Amino acid sequence: MAELILHRGKERSLFKRHPWLFDTAVARLSGHARPGDTVTVQSADGRPLAKAAYSPHSKIRARVWSFDVTTTIDHAFFKRRVAEAVARRAALPELAGQQGLRLIHAESDGLPGVIADKYGDTVVVQLTSAGADKWRAAIVAALQKATGCARIYERSDSEVRGLEGLEPVTGWLHGAAPAGEIIIEEHGVKMAVDIVVGHKTGFYLDQRDNRRLLAGFSAGRRVLNCFCYTGGFSLQALAGGAASVLSIDSSQPALQQAAANLALNPQLAAARAHDVEWRAANVFDELRKLKAVGESFDLIVLDPPKFAPSASHAERASRAYKDINLLACKLLTPGGLLMTYSCSGGIGLELFQKIVASAAIDSGRTARIVKRLQGSADHPVDLAFPEGEYLKGLLLQVD
Ligand code: SAH
Repeated sequence: MAELILHRGKERSLFKRHPWLFDTAVARLSGHARPGDTVTVQSADGRPLAKAAYSPHSKIRARVWSFDVTTTIDHAFFKRRVAEAVARRAALPELAGQQGLRLIHAESDGLPGVIADKYGDTVVVQLTSAGADKWRAAIVAALQKATGCARIYERSDSEVRGLEGLEPVTGWLHGAAPAGEIIIEEHGVKMAVDIVVGHKTGFYLDQRDNRRLLAGFSAGRRVLNCFCYTGGFSLQALAGGAASVLSIDSSQPALQQAAANLALNPQLAAARAHDVEWRAANVFDELRKLKAVGESFDLIVLDPPKFAPSASHAERASRAYKDINLLACKLLTPGGLLMTYSCSGGIGLELFQKIVASAAIDSGRTARIVKRLQGSADHPVDLAFPEGEYLKGLLLQVD
């Protein structure tokens, strides 16, 4: 096995159990390793420190599989790690019975570059690192064993694969396409999940708890759901008794799916048909238009896409977050609620709160935090890997 030798002092992040080794920390590779091969990471003075997956094309030159150098990285290793991740979810009562569930949350489950989401008896995997790509067969066999699922589909078409020198890969790895749509139930609402062309693995499972929270605040309110995707927040608002729901997204296919999702729930569709609108628009423009025509809402959700994938995009992203939050504050009735999120890795919690605070001030309103929001429990954050905490949100009462 090849050895990845670090520069002096660069072993410190490993002592804090951070799983990434950047190219700048690496002095040299001793021996030969192909992309994804397991290497032993060594300090400058020759101490073995970890077993990691080598990725010569990426700035993240290696990702640690194990901080115990006696661990063998083989099929049995993946069987154990996958089974542990599945067991971790099974041990949390709040996740019991969820039809849509993240089974593996990459680094935070000790499996860098591995995402696995379950929709009923279908599992969708996304492999985003050279190491994960190399161990595809082991990961798939382990998922099959741990879940007994009927089928496994691969959605490794995320852009980040390019940084690892990997081509997009999609297709069935186990079983075959189901006869009809894949439909999950979330808090009593049916949602179709398009695992082939939908975003991520098909659905934003990370917002599950927050969608339920929204339902609890929706009764009698006029709701505006910005960046609605397939209508997850919109349908929960209707289930919670919203007076009306206007949903905005720039993606026509997403809006079509959202309308179809409403139709899957006749209990919501029948009662509310005249108060529900799916509007295809750019949120930045549409919020301005709504303000210009004197519209107002009692509850606004802002769940935009990742404006800042990394810290280098933070400045431009900050302006975008400020813009939509400022407009949303202006559109709220006094005492209205704003549920606002950032899923940008490059914008930390503290910065996000500052941006929203300055938006509130510039809108001339006073906003108070009712609750801080985060991803659901099937998206755990390993304390040693703060990068795992990408989703942050605030529920604000705006006077
Ligand atoms: N809240 C959703 C997930 C939102 S994902 C849920 O719970 O399922 C972000 C969405 O924003 C995507 O559907 C994308 O199509 C949309 N989007 C991205 N940029 C946009 C823009 N400028 N205006 C409107 N929608 C946009």
